Amino acid sequence: MTTLLKNCRLISPDIDLDGASLLLSGDRVERIVSPGAELPDAEQVLDMSGKIVAPGYLDIHCHGRGGADFSDGDMASFETIGNGKLADGVTDFLATTLSVSLDDITKTCRTAEEYRTKNKTGARLLGMHLEGPFFSPEGAGAQNPAFLRNPDIALVDQWNAICPVKKVSFSPELPGSAEFTRELVKRSIMPSGAHSLAPYETFEEMRLAGMKHLTHFCNVLTPLHHLKFGFVGGGLRAKDVYVEIITDGVHLCDEMIDLILMVKGCEKVMMITDSMRAAGMPDGDYSLGGLPVIVKNGRATIPSGRVAGSTLLYHNGVKHMLDVTHLPPKEIIKCTSWNQARSLGLTGYGRLEPGYYADLVVLDTQWNPLETWVGGVPRWRK
Ligand code: FE
Repeated sequence: MTTLLKNCRLISPDIDLDGASLLLSGDRVERIVSPGAELPDAEQVLDMSGKIVAPGYLDIHCHGRGGADFSDGDMASFETIGNGKLADGVTDFLATTLSVSLDDITKTCRTAEEYRTKNKTGARLLGMHLEGPFFSPEGAGAQNPAFLRNPDIALVDQWNAICPVKKVSFSPELPGSAEFTRELVKRSIMPSGAHSLAPYETFEEMRLAGMKHLTHFCNVLTPLHHLKFGFVGGGLRAKDVYVEIITDGVHLCDEMIDLILMVKGCEKVMMITDSMRAAGMPDGDYSLGGLPVIVKNGRATIPSGRVAGSTLLYHNGVKHMLDVTHLPPKEIIKCTSWNQARSLGLTGYGRLEPGYYADLVVLDTQWNPLETWVGGVPRWRK
């Protein structure tokens, strides 16, 4: 099956072409047709005048949406999240776990694998992101302290054998972290510094061991001080380290988002939602990893007042980044799937160029999703 998306504004990393067309063949992009060039034949031709076509968003850090959480462990929850994410322009995601019991993580991995291999209607699951349970009690944040433990590669192996693990977020001050980091790298799993109150020296040791991601940068990470550089200082300075940012206006102020992009550049920033089950839902009482969560004005907190994930919908985070930074869309679009894909070794994702998956989002001029396509097929339309 060939499809021609005619006369769109095509935005992809380093590409912004108004009046371009995109030829899809099967589940892949066949070619970009420059504005004014002769249009190729296709079995299906769709007029995209006045619309943006961009790579679908890849949310590598999300726990839930629409009332459901991956840690619920059942297929209905995965489908609710996977279908809901399509409406936010998300074509691909990593199912992100929490610090819950080992049995519950195992159950979530099993359901994830079933969804990954069988689902044909929701956003595409590319693997697991284990956020915890390898966290220090001091850095637990809104993760349940009852289930914290030291890094254990045997547990990761066990879960990775069920569903491919792509990334592990852990506190790098815990015993055995350098060895754990090296073992993850051997398995092509990204070690990501997270929930840490450790000093800069720990950051640097782990970076040299292979830790090239920082999880929800600035949130529950040792702050920058002019004499104690911390994980925030380390993340800003290290040119080989990618940082996740939550652009909901709650987790990072606008000036910090602007500063991070100014210092890191669009090549090393990855927008995430860290969405919990209240995303896409009204204010009220919810839960996260067994802890009660109150959502008020879209802000999710545990009773201590600590922020507990977000209710951010991906496309709103993209709009916020564009508004705050005033950076060109062809730069910002690197932060919404391309950086995630290349740093995690997810080949074929994050660009709309020949050979890449036709995972794309059709947007109006205000960056609101109109259609979401996965593998060359529309899976959601407004
Ligand atoms: Fe977290």
